[in-house]
Amino acid sequence: MKNRPDAVVFFDIDGTLIRRIGLAHRHALIYAVRRVTGLETGVDGIPLHGMLDTEILSAMLANAGAGRTLIRRSLPLIQTHAQRYFARHCPNLERKVCPGVRPLLNRLARAGVPMGLVTGNFTRIGWKKVERAGLKHYFRLAACAEMGRDRAALMRLALREARARGWVGRRTLVTLVGDTPRDVEAARANGVRAVAVATGLCSLEELRSCSPDVLVEDLRQLPFQALMEE
Ligand SMILES: [Mg+2]
Repeated sequence: MKNRPDAVVFFDIDGTLIRRIGLAHRHALIYAVRRVTGLETGVDGIPLHGMLDTEILSAMLANAGAGRTLIRRSLPLIQTHAQRYFARHCPNLERKVCPGVRPLLNRLARAGVPMGLVTGNFTRIGWKKVERAGLKHYFRLAACAEMGRDRAALMRLALREARARGWVGRRTLVTLVGDTPRDVEAARANGVRAVAVATGLCSLEELRSCSPDVLVEDLRQLPFQALMEE
């Protein structure tokens, strides 16, 4: 730990580390809902970006007429089947990594900065994506969809875990890098620096309107020092 920069960086996955990965994720959710409840569902009309898998599934089920009790009771088994389906069908994602991601992660790793994931994906889906993108080895922990009510809760969990591991001291700069206003809100709710990157579905203007601490078009434009210094 000696001499490493006093920083910890968390990353969202979709639209931030990787993008345009195809339909395997939504197919996994649709398949799992059918398998567990028998309901035919879809994601049309559901604004997927920035949402947790649990929120997406709840909306899919509600749209198909499911009540709250059925939704709550079926979610754990739906998660199990969605993760299994995704693990079998996730394509190679090495060419779906967003611009600037690999050099940035390399540099952070070389500097000894601990990194984690704060993602709306279910745990095994999120880890599978970074594995198939060739990025898994950079990340030491993940706060995922089923662990909290919203992204702010996930960020809080990640922070707690980082503290428990001794990564966060009084002066440590903690940053969350994400591609939607929900990531920015999650950072702000936890007193964490918000870096917004416009490689997902949100435009620069949309992201600017939620006033992140740092805003870049893609991660090639992110000054390394923005993650290191107040
Ligand atoms: Mg995202």
